[in-house]
Amino acid sequence: MSDALILDTIEAFLARDVAPHVHALEKSDTWPAEIVARMRELGLFGATIGPQYGGLGLPCATYAAIVERIARVWMSLTGIFNSHLIMAAVVERQGTEAQKRDFLPRFAAGELRGGLALTEPDCGTDLQAIRTTARRDGDHYVINGTKTWISNGIHGACFALLVKTDLAAEPRHRGMSLFLAEKGPGFTVGRKLEKLGYKGIDSAELVFDNFRVPANRLIGGVEGFGLKHALSGLELGRINVASRGVGIAQAALDESLRYAQLRKTFGKPIAQHQAIQLKLADMATRTEAARLLTQRAAEMYDRGVRCDMEAGMAKLFATEAALENAIEAMRVHGGYGYSTDAPVERLYRDAPLLVIGEGTNELQRIIIARQLVQRNPA
Ligand SMILES: Cc1cc2nc3c(=O)[nH]c(=O)nc-3n(C[C@H](O)[C@H](O)[C@H](O)COP(=O)(O)OP(=O)(O)OC[C@H]3O[C@@H](n4cnc5c(N)ncnc54)[C@H](O)[C@@H]3O)c2cc1C
Repeated sequence: MSDALILDTIEAFLARDVAPHVHALEKSDTWPAEIVARMRELGLFGATIGPQYGGLGLPCATYAAIVERIARVWMSLTGIFNSHLIMAAVVERQGTEAQKRDFLPRFAAGELRGGLALTEPDCGTDLQAIRTTARRDGDHYVINGTKTWISNGIHGACFALLVKTDLAAEPRHRGMSLFLAEKGPGFTVGRKLEKLGYKGIDSAELVFDNFRVPANRLIGGVEGFGLKHALSGLELGRINVASRGVGIAQAALDESLRYAQLRKTFGKPIAQHQAIQLKLADMATRTEAARLLTQRAAEMYDRGVRCDMEAGMAKLFATEAALENAIEAMRVHGGYGYSTDAPVERLYRDAPLLVIGEGTNELQRIIIARQLVQRNPA
C-alpha cells in the first residue's frame, strides 16, 4: 500500500470512528475499547513491526505522518500504540530468535498489547537509580519493586520491564536488565493515576511482589544490557512524541485559523487584526519547522543512521511548539478558548505532557549538547 493510501485510510478512520466520539470519551476519561478494536483491524499495533512477524513494516517516516494525523484529532490514541511499538522494536532489534517468534506476531496482531515500564516512584530521568530487582532462582527470576506512570498499565498485558540484576555493578547500568513481563501472579496494578489531560489512556502504578518470570524472558538472553536496550527503543519513541507535538501544534493552528475568520470585533474578522495575524504566522511557522525536523529524524532512523541528536532536537522543538501553539490558540479564541467545550482547551491540557514524557526537554538539551561536543571535537 502506498503512503498516500495509508494516510487516506487513517484520515477516514479518524473522521468516522474517532472524531465524533472524542469529546465524550475524553470528558468521561473512558478507555476507547471500540476504537482500539478498529486500530487492531487497521494493523496499527504492528505498524513498525516487520512483515515476517505479521506487522506492516512501515518506515518510521510514514509512521511519524500517521502519528501526526492521529494526534491532530486525539493525542491519547497515539499513546496506546507508541510504547507498545517501542517494546516491539526492542524485541525485534535485541531479542533472541525465540523471543521474536513467540512475541512479535502477537504484538503485531494487537492480541498481546502493553508498553514500557521504566519509571519508578523515586526516579524517571535518572533511570540508573531504579530499585526494582530481579534475582535468579533456577530457571526463573524473582522480581520485586514498583513502577509508576506506566502507559497502558491497566489494559495492557505485557511490558518491557527494566530491573536491576546486580545492585553492586559499577557503572550502575551494567547491573540493569530488561524483561518481557506478562501479567500473572505477583504482577498487579497498584492504582490508576489521575491526570490533567491525556484522558482515555490508562496510566498506572504496577507492583511486583515476588513475581516469577521465566529466565528465557530476559531480552537478548544476557544480563547487563537492559538500559542500553531500553534506550535503543527511545529514538523511535522520541520521533513519535515529536510527531504528536506536530499534530497538536497543527490542530491548534487549524482551530485558530478557522475561528479567526469567523469571529468579528470592531466590524471585521479578528484574522484581519494585525495582532492576531502575527500569532497565526508564528504558529504556522513553528508547526512547519517542527514537521521538517521530525521528518528529518525519521528519515535518518530509516537509513539506520545514529539519530539520537536529531530525534532529540525534533522532540524538543516540536513539543515546545505544541505548548506555545496551544496557549496562543486559547488567546485567539478569547473566552471561548477557556470553555471546557472547546477543543483548544484539550490541546492546552494535553500539550504539557509532551515536554515531560519520553525524556524531559531538559534531558533532550543535555543529549543534544553532549552529541554536539562528541561530533565536533576541538
Ligand atoms: C502521562 C504520563 C505517561 C507516562 N508514561 C510512561 C511509560 O509508559 N513508561 C515509563 O517508564 N514512564 C512513563 N512516564 C514517566 C516519564 O517518562 C517521567 O515522568 C519522565 O521521564 C520524568 O521523570 P520524573 O517524573 O521522575 O522527573 P525527574 O526525573 O524527577 O525530574 C524532575 C525535573 O528535574 C529535571 N532534571 C532531572 N535530572 C536533570 C539533570 N541531570 N539536569 C537538568 N534537569 C534535570 C527534569 O527535567 C524535570 O524538570 C509517564 C509520565 C506521564 C506523566
